[in-house]
Amino acid sequence: MNPLSAGEDVILLDSKGREYLVTLKEGQAFSTHRGMLPHDLIIGREEGTVVTTERGDEYTAFRPTFNQFVLNLKRTAQIIYPKDIGPILLWADIHPGAFVVEGGAGWGALTIALLRAIGEKGRLVTYEIREDFAKKAEENVRRFLGDAPNHELRRGDIYEGITEREVDRIILDLPEPWRAVTHAASSLRSGGILLAYLPTIIQVRELCEAVRNLKTFTEPEVFEVSHRPWNVKGRSVRPVSWVFSHSAFIIVTRKTLLPEYRNIDDE
Ligand code: SAH
Repeated sequence: MNPLSAGEDVILLDSKGREYLVTLKEGQAFSTHRGMLPHDLIIGREEGTVVTTERGDEYTAFRPTFNQFVLNLKRTAQIIYPKDIGPILLWADIHPGAFVVEGGAGWGALTIALLRAIGEKGRLVTYEIREDFAKKAEENVRRFLGDAPNHELRRGDIYEGITEREVDRIILDLPEPWRAVTHAASSLRSGGILLAYLPTIIQVRELCEAVRNLKTFTEPEVFEVSHRPWNVKGRSVRPVSWVFSHSAFIIVTRKTLLPEYRNIDDE
């Protein structure tokens, strides 16, 4: 038994599959176009409970998954969508205990996913240049994960330098990541991974050239992820007609041992 309590977020799912992210508060109500839904009907009940509005509409209450939380947040910044976050975690090989540096906090969607993947023994430093985004990301991390003592939100410009050393993974979601590749090369340990997320192929080319010029990284791998949701209902068994067709490219490269330390046994 782990009943839903006041102060917690829930997802209210209606009969058409629409989702609403609501923070439960005693004495308050969620207003729908078909009547009010008092939070007190949900507080104290188990996840998955079905509650009914005054006019008989049913809503199911769940604790939000990560996808439901980020997709239903009211936001003003572009986030990385879950369909890209999954592959980012795997292609950057984010593992429990990893030391990770992130560039650009934004709304904190990727930050939350990174913190979950590195676990309590990992460490994450996120650079963010804008105070409003830094605050919002911290607020969203706290809202979804609670206290995260292994996370530091560093107010600063990552193009000016990365002070951390022997970092396992660096993830950049900002407009000009090529301005941070030299810093990434000094900050990553040999064998460390640099991953960037960029919306246009012109930016991808600029980044790939900067990476190659350093002669410290492996040939970058570039791809995008397509996700095609389907409708499966009655005779309508086909891809949904509106498809989100492009978000951004993912670029991954790995730091090699610097040339002066290579083949040291042969000399
Ligand atoms: N990955 C985030 C979205 C990041 S949006 C998410 O999933 O929610 C890009 C962010 O990078 C913005 O918040 C912007 O303020 C920040 N940014 C841009 N240039 C920066 C720089 N030079 N140093 C640090 N942060 C920067």
